Amino acid sequence: MSAHSFDTRGLTHCPFMPVFGPPQVMFARGRGTELWDTDGKRYLDFLCGLAVTSLGHCHPAVTAALIDQAAQLWHVSNLFANPQAATAATKVESLLHDVTGREGQVFFCNSGAEANEAALKLARRWAGHGRHVVISAYGSFHGRTLATLAATGQPAKHEPFQPLPAGFRHVAFNDIDAISAAIDPTVAAVLLEPVQGEGGVIPADPGYLRAVRALCDERGLLLIVDEVQCGFGRTGEWFGFQHARVTPDIVTMAKAMGNGFPVGACWARREVAAAFQPGDHGSTYSATALATAVVSAVIDEMHRIDAPRLAHEKGRSLTARLEAVPGVVGVRGSGLLLAVELAPGLDAKAVYAALLERGVVTNAVTASALRLAPPLTVSDNEIDEAVAVLASVLQEFRS
Ligand SMILES: *Cc1c(COP(=O)(O)O)cnc(C)c1O
Repeated sequence: MSAHSFDTRGLTHCPFMPVFGPPQVMFARGRGTELWDTDGKRYLDFLCGLAVTSLGHCHPAVTAALIDQAAQLWHVSNLFANPQAATAATKVESLLHDVTGREGQVFFCNSGAEANEAALKLARRWAGHGRHVVISAYGSFHGRTLATLAATGQPAKHEPFQPLPAGFRHVAFNDIDAISAAIDPTVAAVLLEPVQGEGGVIPADPGYLRAVRALCDERGLLLIVDEVQCGFGRTGEWFGFQHARVTPDIVTMAKAMGNGFPVGACWARREVAAAFQPGDHGSTYSATALATAVVSAVIDEMHRIDAPRLAHEKGRSLTARLEAVPGVVGVRGSGLLLAVELAPGLDAKAVYAALLERGVVTNAVTASALRLAPPLTVSDNEIDEAVAVLASVLQEFRS
């Protein structure tokens, strides 16, 4: 089937619900940073399915873990245990334990939105009736379910689905006074991304996160950090909050944790996790043997290659190369979660389309900026190749 064999704008024949724009390309195969479409054309993937395939496509160790597990055991429900789940939970918990200095517990789910749902329910359970409000930031993105949409600080996305669940309050990002003013006795928690990914790759100021932590301590609130996009090495640390040296009470994760296999998790320090009682939360697919075998393989491989260090080093060299490209006026973000701000007059959507045509996959994260999130395993040659294509595309647009 060729990439354009059905036109998703002709809705009578498209089998998909029209929640996504018309796809530009149909990909058939991937390996490392490379992708091939159904016509055999090669691409460099500098987006990773939105910061998901951080170890590259079809990583051999992760693929082997999935295939081995698929022949052993997939699913037994949460009425019973399986060794893969116990191993993966221990690995996730020791990662978070190492970087927060706090002992915690893990709940596995299937997506970022579900990880945030678990965090929101846990915060309510911990705080008790009457203290259910969660404060989050304008420009944030926390998911597409009703509660995570309500937490998402983008009023335009709310509008068609009102009334949304109650108990969410939004404040300006990177503004400590705004959070302080929004706190009253009904507030249970503050929910923030260390770098607003979908919101344009806008990093939280380290001083802001530290001040929020202090405010949460002072007012008895939980700090929930949404690491769904930043987590697992992407920003140059295992978790984005480490850049600010703060210790959250709850951490949500997904995306890179499964390298493309659908899985998420919510970690909380032990005293907070203890608020959940059996029956309070769950999922048929919590901690399946198949998903957790993948999580273990991803974490092992990330340790082996020191993924955060790679993201830091490759991010530095990619940033330096991008800054030297005429037509690029700024690069923001950290590690390999970057936004490239284009010179006035350049339309990010048009540049994205031209890059795709030339075989480089990116994303127009705002009207004037491209988001780059290549695999943490990206090679120097691949960086050179992608930057050269960007330079030549921008030169064409400018002349
Ligand atoms: C992608 C994302 C989510 C939602 O994850 P899904 O797996 O799509 O539900 C939540 N928070 C952040 C920060 C994200 O980037």
